[in-house]
Amino acid sequence: MTRKASTSRHLSPTQRKRLYSVARLLAEAYGPHIFPDEKDAMGKMLFAILVSQTAVTNARKAMREFREMALDWNELRVHSVREIEEALARCRIAPAGPLATLLKRFMQASFDALCTMRLEVLAQARPEVLKGYLQAIGFLPPYLVQYLRLVCGLDSTPPLDPATERILERIGIFEPGCEDAEARRAALGAVLEDPLHFHHLMHEHGRKLCTPERPRCSRCVVYEHCAYPRSAQGSAEAAAAAEGGGAAARRRRPSSKQKAARAAARSKRKGSKRAGAGGGEQRPAAAARRRP
Ligand code: SF4
Repeated sequence: MTRKASTSRHLSPTQRKRLYSVARLLAEAYGPHIFPDEKDAMGKMLFAILVSQTAVTNARKAMREFREMALDWNELRVHSVREIEEALARCRIAPAGPLATLLKRFMQASFDALCTMRLEVLAQARPEVLKGYLQAIGFLPPYLVQYLRLVCGLDSTPPLDPATERILERIGIFEPGCEDAEARRAALGAVLEDPLHFHHLMHEHGRKLCTPERPRCSRCVVYEHCAYPRSAQGSAEAAAAAEGGGAAARRRRPSSKQKAARAAARSKRKGSKRAGAGGGEQRPAAAARRRP
């Protein structure tokens, strides 16, 4: 039986308590500055687009590259896709081409719709301008548009990216298929003090430990709050990981036959050294040096 998506916009006290505990533990583990403190909304958006496809470290390097090749975002916008791609490649981002195209397209669409690279103007934009702009950047994944709305002060609910959905379902804040995306965002927005930092925490945790397949639960700081490791699927994955680890260890451990061959080789080497030292056949050069 399929569950009907609910439009409930409230978390129960238990869910809320668990959410706060999880957010606190993840904040202690990952710290306050997961994404750099970009001062402007365009910088925040470019970084968010970068980390949608690469690690935070590479994205930081790419932002430094961009600042070296352009004085401001408008100057970066007029660079060719090829130049942006080369900058990304220098930061070991691969494949760089599609990401360079996406960044260039976003910057160009923003400038065409707003006549500026300052996304802060959206907070004061007329409804039709805002609507036109959101349509123009419709090629971005929905959670990046939600991110944009958040950093521009148009919204106060966290973006619902795949990592956030996955982690919150595993932890038991949401049940799979039980709420629609907007209900989930509203429920989170109603209780989170810092939705932007919460999103960064979810992004980082989803990338480092709570991966789509075989999450590294044994190293996770929220293990105690998470139902997943004790679920049927979590237990099966842990068993498969243990089995894989055991097989790898067995592969590394030498067999008795290999051990015997190595011991024989060692004793052969020792024997030949002793023979050399004990007056066996001497090498001509050494023999010549000893001759009076
Ligand atoms: S315990 Fe495992 S499934 Fe749960 S949040 Fe941590 S990594 Fe994810």
